[in-house]
Amino acid sequence: MSLYEYAGNLHVHTTSSDGTASHAEVAQAAAEAGLDFVIVTDHNVWVDGVGGYYDDVLLLVGEEIHDEDRKPQANHLLVFNAEGELAPMAADTQALIDEVNQRGGICYLAHPFERASPLGAELCAIPWDAWQVGGYTGIELWNTMSEFKGLMRNKLWAVFYATFPGMGIRGPFRATLRKWDELLASGARLSVVGSADAHGKTYSLGPLTRQLFPYAHLFRCVNTHVLTHAPLNGDVDHDRALIYDALRSGRTWVGYDLPASTEGFRFHAHSVGIEAQMGEELARTGAIVLKVETPLAADTKLLRDGVVVARSRRKKLDYTTVDPGVYRVEVYRRFRWEGRGWIFSSPIYVK
Ligand SMILES: [Zn+2]
Ligand SMILES: [Zn+2]
Repeated sequence: MSLYEYAGNLHVHTTSSDGTASHAEVAQAAAEAGLDFVIVTDHNVWVDGVGGYYDDVLLLVGEEIHDEDRKPQANHLLVFNAEGELAPMAADTQALIDEVNQRGGICYLAHPFERASPLGAELCAIPWDAWQVGGYTGIELWNTMSEFKGLMRNKLWAVFYATFPGMGIRGPFRATLRKWDELLASGARLSVVGSADAHGKTYSLGPLTRQLFPYAHLFRCVNTHVLTHAPLNGDVDHDRALIYDALRSGRTWVGYDLPASTEGFRFHAHSVGIEAQMGEELARTGAIVLKVETPLAADTKLLRDGVVVARSRRKKLDYTTVDPGVYRVEVYRRFRWEGRGWIFSSPIYVK
């Protein structure tokens, strides 16, 4: 079956909560960055009636839900395709997730591991701690603003990373990768998304007052790429259904598109005429071949149950095995004098 690739950012705040851009401005910034779609996720408010095409960019509306009474803050949930206001359910995380599923929606644990910055109360860590819940679609593996927050250990570093933002982005936190592998090992099926968490705020750091991370810049950094079963055709309902189907199925990878576009990455598994894509299960009939293609030569690692089983520095990696397990791919590239995370795939489940 043919697959069609689209790139988007799906964790973005507007003036409907604590962001600084309108929905139209967010769509315009996404267009400037070359994205196909953008999903806004304002805090505890689902904004109806603003979704649709803004020129060539499809803007969809999700929500980032959390319990405002909870101190310290924790458990931010990104909700998509629930098409209704679910914030009143925030106090009971499992009931909220169940309601999302009941509505045919999908949801991800936002920034599950975070490091606080001492530079302000609003830069506190907001991790996930409700690990007893189940039924969510996946996790936000890499969140650009979350990574920056952890780097702002003092004003000097904040000014440095504000001036050279590309220096700060390195990859998902090891703790997030480890927890994801642990959950996968327990039998959970969890795909991944990566995003900006863009707010467009202006900060004052001594003599420097500037919008630290403009929307359009962040939309060139960590994005989510999806593979759909049909091309987008400009019809909002049709295209929304395709994007959400790809997310629900886990045909996704997290791509850091600033060093080089991750467009064209593919990861699939084959066993005697059967093919499985990311997010899918492959029932073995004898040997299987896992195939990875990257748009440029890079340091590609194929992992089985969290352990590297094959590695390549070329654009292609083929690995033949008879071993069942959860397979996923991590790709690293040198950028700004360091090896940095570039691509993190959702898993293929080999039975
Ligand atoms: Zn959040
Ligand atoms: Zn957020």
